[in-house]
Amino acid sequence: MSAQILDGNAIAKTLRGEIRAELERWSSAGRRLPGLAVILVGNDPASEIYVKGKRRDCDEVGFHSIVQHLSANVSQADLEARIAALNDDATIDGILVQTPLPEHIDEDRIIDCIDPAKDVDGFHAYNIGLLALRRPALRSCTPKGIMLLLEHIGCAFNGMDAAIIGASNHVGRPMGLELLLAGCTVTTAHKFTRNIEDKVKLADIVISAVGKPGLVPAAWIKPGAIVIDVGITRGENNKLYGDVQFEAVKDVASWITPVPGGVGPMTRIALLQNTLQAARVHQGLL
Ligand code: NAD
Repeated sequence: MSAQILDGNAIAKTLRGEIRAELERWSSAGRRLPGLAVILVGNDPASEIYVKGKRRDCDEVGFHSIVQHLSANVSQADLEARIAALNDDATIDGILVQTPLPEHIDEDRIIDCIDPAKDVDGFHAYNIGLLALRRPALRSCTPKGIMLLLEHIGCAFNGMDAAIIGASNHVGRPMGLELLLAGCTVTTAHKFTRNIEDKVKLADIVISAVGKPGLVPAAWIKPGAIVIDVGITRGENNKLYGDVQFEAVKDVASWITPVPGGVGPMTRIALLQNTLQAARVHQGLL
């Protein structure tokens, strides 16, 4: 068996086209276009690439977007004041603070400052809480993007066994809530989990979000499972590596995401969808 490739670039392109078409209708109706504000602190090269990509996506679909690029020495108080100003800015529907932040900044407090109705990253405790209570509003982008990939496959996920490797606040945990909401039985593994292999082998859906190249070998995968690789590790010459041993696993899985070109573009489309959703709410359309 050779797995079908879940092409995140192609799926995201179709979804971007749908957003663009909706915004053309907004323009004709004289509506204000959705606005996204990105705050970038310091000069981390990977963060700069991500922010550039987000800006390009906004331009492509026709969002209003601004980037505030701040010095790595910015104070907690200054950063919080900037978020407060964006919370009050009627032209801005979504606020995203690019991570990682410098050590002296308390990231949890920064996320707490964002108006939950503008929390288009879906990281705020209020939005995670709504997802836990089965009332999703603004959903964390990477798990939401993965659910869009799974929807593309089009099979019934109700009752499936899912294994998530990685339990971070931004990926593993909200991913578990998404899959639970979709009716899966979820096992979440992390760095303290014993016998990960035995747990992953039972899963119909395997999602790895760790950041360790080659962590998941073919021997862990049940034949026919769907394998989603969230991991991104930048190696020599800037080459990107996933967590999954792609070449071997693709001979066992039914569907598999490549790295790059799998989950990454879907995270970005989820951000655009969240910004559009926030704008619909702000304009009384939802
Ligand atoms: P994180 O460091 O916050 O969390 C990693 C998780 O992996 C932790 O829960 C930890 O317990 C677990 N872990 C560590 N070693 C393990 C092991 N040997 N076995 C099992 N679990 C182990 O990272 P994160 O922010 O969740 O990101 C994870 C990876 O996904 C990174 O490579 C990151 O770059 C990538 N990522 C990709 C996207 C995307 O859009 N493609 C988005 C977010 C993160």
